[in-house]
Formats: sequence, C-alpha cells, structure tokens
Amino acid sequence: MKPAKFAYAKPITLGEVLTLLDEHRDDAAILSGGQTLVPMLNLRVASPQLLIDINAVPDLDAITVNDSTLSIGSRARHNQVLRSEAVQRSIPVLGQALRHVAHEAVRNRGTLGGSLALADPAAEMPACMVCLDADIVLCSNDGTRSVPASDFFRGIYDTDRQPNELILRVEIPIPDASWRFTFHEISRRHGDFAMAGLVFGIRCQEGAVTDCRAVFMGIESFPRRIAEVESAIVGTQLSRTDAIDRAVALLSTALECEDGEEYPAAYKLHLAKQLFSHCAVKAFSEFTHG
Ligand SMILES: Cc1cc2nc3c(=O)[nH]c(=O)nc-3n(C[C@H](O)[C@H](O)[C@H](O)COP(=O)(O)OP(=O)(O)OC[C@H]3O[C@@H](n4cnc5c(N)ncnc54)[C@H](O)[C@@H]3O)c2cc1C
Repeated sequence: MKPAKFAYAKPITLGEVLTLLDEHRDDAAILSGGQTLVPMLNLRVASPQLLIDINAVPDLDAITVNDSTLSIGSRARHNQVLRSEAVQRSIPVLGQALRHVAHEAVRNRGTLGGSLALADPAAEMPACMVCLDADIVLCSNDGTRSVPASDFFRGIYDTDRQPNELILRVEIPIPDASWRFTFHEISRRHGDFAMAGLVFGIRCQEGAVTDCRAVFMGIESFPRRIAEVESAIVGTQLSRTDAIDRAVALLSTALECEDGEEYPAAYKLHLAKQLFSHCAVKAFSEFTHG
C-alpha cells in the first residue's frame, strides 16, 4: 500500500522542530528512524498531515556520561547504543537487552526515542528504563520537563508525552557496584518481538539483598515494577534461594495477565514465572560467585 498524502519538513534546529510541533500537534508525526512510522504510513494506520524529520538536528543522538548519570539522546540508534563503550562500561544490561531488539538492519535505523514514544508493551527499552529508574526528558515550546519512566508509560502504545512534545533524551542513574542487573527474554525466533521478557536487578550488602527491581515486558499492557514480588526478595540472604520460590508464587496474584490474541493469560503467567526464576537465580549466583 501507499501512504496518504503528507507534507514533509526537515528542520535543522531544535527550535524549528518545536515550533512545527506546536503549530501542528496531533496532525504532525516525528520521523526518527522510520522503522515503525513508515510501515504505519504505508498501511494507513497513521495518516499525519505533516512529517517532521528530526535527522538533521545536531546532537540529538549524543551519548554522555558524567559521574553518576548516563544520558542518551533520543535519536541514538539502537546499534549506536549497543556499541557504545560508555554504555557497556556504565550500564551493561542495556547491551544485553538491545541485542534482542529486532534485527541488525532495524537496529541500524531504529532509535531509543522512537521505541519509547511508541511504547510497545513487548519492547525492551521501555522495560529497561523503568527498571533502571531513568528519567525521560521531554521538551516543547512551553519548556523542558523530566518524567520518571515509571510514570511515562500508561498503557498499550500510550505514554505521558503531549502532542507538542519531543522526547529529547533519557537520563539513567548509573548503578553502583552494589547492584547487579540481568535481562532475559523468550521469543519464537531471535529478532522477533518477545513473547515475554524481564529486566531484573538486586542490590546486595553484606550477603543480603537490600533492594530489588523487577520489570516485565510482553506480560502486561505497560512496563511497571512489581512491588509485591520485589519485597519478597528484599531482606533475604543470598544463600537462601527459597525466597525466589516464594516470590515466583506471588506472581500469580501480583501480575495482571490478560488473554491476548496469541497467548492465553495462563501461558503468559507461566512465562513470567520461568523468567523470574531464571533471572533471580542468575543474579544471586553472580553476587555469590563474583
Ligand atoms: C521487523 C521489526 C522488528 C522489530 N522488533 C523489535 C523488537 O524485538 N523489540 C523492540 O523493542 N522493537 C522492535 N522493533 C521496533 C524498532 O526497534 C524501533 O524501536 C521502533 O520501530 C521505533 O522506530 P524508530 O526509532 O525508527 O521511530 P519511528 O518509526 O521514526 O517513530 C516511531 C514513533 O515514535 C515517534 N517518535 C520518534 N521519535 C520521537 C521523539 N524523539 N519524540 C517523540 N516522538 C517520537 C514517531 O512520531 C512515531 O509515532 C521492530 C521493528 C521492526 C520493523
């Protein structure tokens, strides 16, 4: 199919992008990597009157580290983030997750901001940002605001972004050495959207777990921390893996799995339990064995 007619603008400054967004709001769409937007146009799932191509705006793809924060520009391509030494050194779990995002060709063009704006419930980056306690920085002609990732995702393909806002960057606190994060997903073929995945982190001090974060993707309609299950892990000694079994049992009530077109709720719950057990055992063992 061919897209409906649209106008096209390729501004070279951020100010021009924001002015166009302000003028056209819901009638405009930002074109970043085009990996989802272009198929949506072709299928006429989306028919904006104006495409605002942000590929000529400088610095939107910058990746920087200061003492305690990793900052990734919204137009950073998945492969750019995956291959960034700064990312590998500071938050290696992002690389673990990005290897599962689509295929090489899609990762060459697809961007972090596009993935976050899209908010596909099975996407890796939104779940990572919630688990890593990132802030999503948005800007418009009204100013810049920072939204915790845990408040940004609101439902299937639904976020807190306003029609006149551009996602500018994400800011991720760099976890210190007391944290271990791990990522695992289950998909039918490598590169397919995951059936389910989990980003999991524990913080340990003196042999005991002092903090825990668990965020699923592909299970519920948007990524969120599962507090009841995290609490079941906090306080346990690393030698007591029975806490993991108790946490796994709690998933039956803590998760809101719904029957989907492809998989029934009971199967999603089964996947979630497998993922949790796998990631928690791995994280416990990495702390114990170094
Ligand atoms: C075959 C295939 C397989 C895929 N598999 C996976 C997978 O396994 N896991 C996964 O996570 N993703 C997957 N994707 C999605 C892909 O990785 C991209 O992240 C996603 O398509 C977004 O693409 P993009 O960055 O090119 O954004 P675009 O397609 O350009 O835009 C997507 C949406 O985000 C909006 N947008 C883009 N940038 C911004 C911004 N800075 N601020 C505000 N709004 C913005 C656009 O207006 C549009 O609505 C797959 C895609 C394809 C085509």
